[in-house]
Amino acid sequence: MDEKDLIIALDKINGREYKEYNNILGTYNFTNYSVVLDRIQWDPWAPPSQLIIRAPLSKLGFPPFLIKTPSREIPFRDFIGRRFREAAGKFSKGMRGPGRGGNIEIDAGSQSILNRSSVVIKDDILEIRFKMGLPANGKQIDARGAKEMLCTDLKAIVQASILSDSIDKIKLKNHITAYEDAEAIRESLYKLNLIGFIANGSVLPRCAGDSDLPLQNAVPFKSPQELEVTITTPNSGEVTGMGIKHGVTLIVGGGFHGKSTLLDALTSGVYNHIPGDGREKVIVIEETVKIKSEDGRRVEKVNISPFIKNLPFGKDTNSFSTENASGSTSQAANIIEALELGARVLLIDEDTSATNFMIRDERMQELVAKENEPITPFVDRVRQLYTEHNVSTILVMGGSGDYFDSADQVIMMQNYSAIDKNKEAQEIIKKHHTRRKSESDGNFGAISRRCPLKNSLIPKKDKGKQQWPPSGGKTDFFGEIIIDMSYLEQIADPAQERAIKAILKYLSNDNTQ
Ligand code: ADP
Ligand code: MG
Repeated sequence: MDEKDLIIALDKINGREYKEYNNILGTYNFTNYSVVLDRIQWDPWAPPSQLIIRAPLSKLGFPPFLIKTPSREIPFRDFIGRRFREAAGKFSKGMRGPGRGGNIEIDAGSQSILNRSSVVIKDDILEIRFKMGLPANGKQIDARGAKEMLCTDLKAIVQASILSDSIDKIKLKNHITAYEDAEAIRESLYKLNLIGFIANGSVLPRCAGDSDLPLQNAVPFKSPQELEVTITTPNSGEVTGMGIKHGVTLIVGGGFHGKSTLLDALTSGVYNHIPGDGREKVIVIEETVKIKSEDGRRVEKVNISPFIKNLPFGKDTNSFSTENASGSTSQAANIIEALELGARVLLIDEDTSATNFMIRDERMQELVAKENEPITPFVDRVRQLYTEHNVSTILVMGGSGDYFDSADQVIMMQNYSAIDKNKEAQEIIKKHHTRRKSESDGNFGAISRRCPLKNSLIPKKDKGKQQWPPSGGKTDFFGEIIIDMSYLEQIADPAQERAIKAILKYLSNDNTQ
């Protein structure tokens, strides 16, 4: 079928019940591409219809070297998605009729370059998957509106986003080279035995708490000389910056001097950023996990005994479950879960940690005897995590010098500048011997292996059971339980939340949509 057939099909159903849009399901060939109407919404208010654009890549005019390797192909696809979204904003005529009519949406954008499934390449075919709200007049089909959307607007959007001639070549090249360099740096980290890197000149702070855009006129990052390393990249030559070694790294400094900002930048360093973000060359190894305290979370059979033992009334912590974890138990569970999944670096900020999980000082040890304190504080485990499990920690800790004894590196943030304070910290350890007693009663111990049971994943709720929608943010229902991902800082995009939900659903063997 081609464009003419689509027009005929639409004219036929004009003014009919909205459901009859179903008659236009199928593939229509246009000059350079085809449009697949893959799934049609059942009314104007329902989730929008799903469409696919397919085009033979060799006819679009892009040179093959752009997609030669995964570290070029991923940013190439990400770039096309962004252009499609931009063009959709420019060429679509806005709302048409009730509900989501007139909307054209695609998963694209954000400060990270992501390996998304909204734009994919299969052999020679470039595929763009997006959503469209098909227009209605009241509850009837608006065929004129649909023709405009599918034949005029979409044509302009496709031309602007996938034809090589209409694309800004320099922007595309920068997008790809930024990603390729970031990947090369990450690979070098493994070879150089480092866990993180921040290039000199990087811009770490964001312009507002709820924005991921760079702060204007920020103090650019500069590595202390002692920690400088140089990494060779394919597109920017040699890049110098601060290398973070395995082991325990403390970030200290006065309040408001940029400690959390540094850690946040490292947190997002599992992703590669778009040119101009400021964090293009702030990179950590893939197995890096940000840990927070998350009181109120649910915990299911986690072995938190390295951190918490002998709870009141003998509650078992080798397989600990609760509907409502405390600050410390939730942080313990978050760490153990990360270790179970193979984390090799933990990022922890005092701002989002439970104090009693992190420290217990000499005076408190004297007042509250060890027998009456179920928690073995992180300060007594952080070293063991490294020596026994090869798991490194980067820790922001401005509030307690008790961590000096466990640290391999101490970096101080002062007026947003990083200073190496390793020597001074060592001297202070000698001058003021710690008077607190270690509370670790032996090894950290093995990490338990858990496996989710298929029949415990129930994606459907009981019919008739009243459920209130979750209150925004990164929360959603999975069957009758609420999945709350709001403390998972490293989820960079709502599409990832949907993917996690889809994975759970898949694991539960439920294949309905
Ligand atoms: P800390 O954790 O040490 O208390 P933060 O990292 O929260 O401090 O930073 C405090 C403030 O300083 C934030 O508003 C942050 O945006 C800003 N800031 C951090 N780093 C820089 C920088 N390099 N240049 C300019 N402002 C910065
Ligand atoms: Mg802070």
